[in-house]
Amino acid sequence: MAKELILIVEDNQKNLKLVRDLLQFRGYLVLEAETGEKGIEIAREQRPALILMDVQLPGMDGIAAMTVLKADSNTQHIPIVALTAYAMKGDKERFTENGFDGYISKPIDIRELPKIVEQHLSRHSEKKP
Ligand code: MN
Repeated sequence: MAKELILIVEDNQKNLKLVRDLLQFRGYLVLEAETGEKGIEIAREQRPALILMDVQLPGMDGIAAMTVLKADSNTQHIPIVALTAYAMKGDKERFTENGFDGYISKPIDIRELPKIVEQHLSRHSEKKP
């Protein structure tokens, strides 16, 4: 089975490297963007199977970028998981209500992240005909 293409949108180099390493170690193909604008461009061109989206980005933030992708018929089927440092109670609900498909809090748990990625990829493929 071919490994899925995953887009990481993250402006923090340390987090970007950590997530990239975790995903590549498991054989996923990784695309990267450091801004929401670039993330949207890559998502439209490459149609990844999943997007991991930092919320706090320079310029357009992750919520705005997610909203653009969810409003575009070419990309609205792609699950988008928020990566966020906001760890306050209730934020998970707030982000999923906003339109994200899931939520990963920072600091990133290196055992939790691959599980969440897998969940979203399998949930997504079940919907395919
Ligand atoms: Mn950030």
